[in-house]
Amino acid sequence: MRIILLGPPGAGKGTQAAFLCQHFNIPQISTGDMLRQAVSLGTDLGQQAQSYMQQGQLVPDALMIDLIKERIAQKDCINGFLLDGFPRTLPQAEALQQANVAITEVIEIDVPDAEIIQRAVSRLIHPGSGRVYNVLTNPPKHPGVDDITGEPLIQRADDNEQTVRKRLEVYHQQTLPLTTYYAKLAATSAPNVPKFSRINGVGTLEAVNQRLLNALK
Ligand code: AMP
Repeated sequence: MRIILLGPPGAGKGTQAAFLCQHFNIPQISTGDMLRQAVSLGTDLGQQAQSYMQQGQLVPDALMIDLIKERIAQKDCINGFLLDGFPRTLPQAEALQQANVAITEVIEIDVPDAEIIQRAVSRLIHPGSGRVYNVLTNPPKHPGVDDITGEPLIQRADDNEQTVRKRLEVYHQQTLPLTTYYAKLAATSAPNVPKFSRINGVGTLEAVNQRLLNALK
């Protein structure tokens, strides 16, 4: 299985991706997590990406395409993978096609903008693992600390209302066209094109899990 999860920032992609990857025993490849790690390590990539990320802008395609090609060439991807946060632009999607990366399923998690803004400002993450919580819908067992390690949770630097609005605008302009791209590709009966589904991302985590599993059947 080579899955792409699409959806606006804060649609629950990270949380649902972790669940699907455990269920299907495939690696979760989150470009956002990879970039945040690069920023915190101060690598060349991190230094180049940081200012785009803080402003809610996308990191340039060339950097992202190199990063993902290198990642999916690693051994753990041999039986499949799930891309969470990539592709985000048409050139990124086309680069996957050109590199003959045979994606099998593309799923869009659909959540209205107003709900996204409310969720993002109440989101907390565990920086060590990328685990995501939400004070309203998915709180940690003990306030402010990770359920598994007990380490402190933080708010992402780009989870404030102003940046979230910018990220949503960027999503509508640059990423949403990918849903049409993949829907059209799926409608051609060409061999090896990915199946495309859209699921409703509003509801409990379990309800959304179930919709995803049904879409992947
Ligand atoms: P995320 O955790 O997926 O919301 O990503 C956080 C930030 O990382 C985004 O707002 C972008 O600045 C950057 N980013 C992550 N994935 C990509 C991508 N595929 N293309 C460009 N920028 C990305």
